[in-house]
Amino acid sequence: DEAEWAEFDEVEAPEGEAAPKPQPVLAVVGRPNVGKSTLVNRLLGRREAVVQDVPGVTRDRVAYDALWNGRRFTLVDTGGWEPDAKGLQASVAAQAELAMHTADAVLLVVDARVGATETEEAVARVLRRSKRPVLLAANKVDDQRGVSDVHSLWSLGLGEPRPVSALHGSGSGDLLDAVLDAFPETPREIFGATGGPRRVALVGKPNVGKSSLLNKLTGEERSVVHDVAGTTVDPVDSLVELDGEVWRFVDTAGLRKRVKTASGTEYYASLRTKAAIEAAEVAIMLIDASEPLSEQDLRVLTMVVEAGRALVIAYNKWDLVDEDRRHQLEKEIDRELVRVRWAERVNVSAKTGRAVAKLAPTLRTALESWDTRIPTGRLNGWLSDLVAANPPPVRGGRQPKILFATQAQSRPPTIVLFTTGFLEAGYRRFLERKFRETFGFVGSPVRISVRVRE
Ligand code: GDP
Ligand code: GDP
Repeated sequence: DEAEWAEFDEVEAPEGEAAPKPQPVLAVVGRPNVGKSTLVNRLLGRREAVVQDVPGVTRDRVAYDALWNGRRFTLVDTGGWEPDAKGLQASVAAQAELAMHTADAVLLVVDARVGATETEEAVARVLRRSKRPVLLAANKVDDQRGVSDVHSLWSLGLGEPRPVSALHGSGSGDLLDAVLDAFPETPREIFGATGGPRRVALVGKPNVGKSSLLNKLTGEERSVVHDVAGTTVDPVDSLVELDGEVWRFVDTAGLRKRVKTASGTEYYASLRTKAAIEAAEVAIMLIDASEPLSEQDLRVLTMVVEAGRALVIAYNKWDLVDEDRRHQLEKEIDRELVRVRWAERVNVSAKTGRAVAKLAPTLRTALESWDTRIPTGRLNGWLSDLVAANPPPVRGGRQPKILFATQAQSRPPTIVLFTTGFLEAGYRRFLERKFRETFGFVGSPVRISVRVRE
């Protein structure tokens, strides 16, 4: 029964990449030109501010990893409130709502020299209803003269306005102290067990359509942004809203910059891919459906599987696939992709937008599997029936016995089998196949490790 196995639940997990640790999230909001970018760079401790003064450029909603006093947190720049089709007020409200939903705390930045405008009063109304802690930064207080401007901001009803100069750095340390104090003990888990938006890596060989797909998903023309920025940006993630949920696409800076140099590029690209996969919980592996599957594709796939990340396979450029190619493709899949039969496949076109809406549901399924843990009692009930009907093959005249199994961890799901002898690879594959028949785990790798007890 369940109790009998309970003591084994604490079995030490075998080696493997641990999932990223939960980090509290701070969302930075404010009107255009109040100095959000400058402040974000200041808070990140970056020397060079990546500030865009070009009108009409939509800034991405981006997330950065920040560190202060030994504590890590995620800083989300929600971009400026540009009056859109729905008008400024609606856009402000939407941004503030988004901030409240994605963050553990919200930082509202105001230009102290301008004071609180109608826009800030509107956002303050939204934020006062929020259950999240809200901090108020009174920016552009560059010297003693500016201090008198700060007091009027008490009127927003968001507590103490904290004077800073993003430009010179004064006040930013105190602000960061206040931010850390404001974070809850444990980050919320609205987006899943890591606390923030789920992390997605978009991977695949060059020219497979990664940038095109990212553009399609975000619905904006990113190339414009790179051209004007012209600055080297740290590896940066993008927040993308898909199907009513915010996702964190990790290390998309490389995709945006489109660096094309001759030598060493492939090596560099592969390091970058590896880093993105490791930072992510789930990977969307893009394969060019119009070309034969290549060695390079298989290498990327191996990286995802070895890192133990959840996986969605997206066949891109489906608009170029005709009847003949489709037959070839099916053969390729049978031949080359057997070991990832558990991954869902989606046939998309970044160009036409075909089926890209299917990505979010498949990501969700994959992550759900990746998070799942089968209770030890249930696992052993299943296993003893299976092994009774299909005992492990005899080796060297001895029949290994499977004593019991436990799922030592999830993310990725890892099963440890305790046995009295070696289990052959073929039999382990058989167990995995049967395991999946019963428990599913669509979209997630499953690791099975064997511990022999003499
Ligand atoms: P954002 O649109 O809110 O992200 O604002 P930016 O960070 O792009 O800044 C808008 C302008 O304000 C830029 O010209 C900055 O140099 C300037 N600025 C930002 N912070 C300060 C500050 O603390 N003092 C002064 N004097 N100017 C600042
Ligand atoms: P990346 O190197 O993986 O970021 O690939 P890009 O997004 O730069 O795309 C490489 C080329 O493939 C570009 O010329 C795109 O226009 C083209 N492309 C991307 N997706 C599709 C698609 O779904 N269909 C077609 N026909 N072309 C595509």
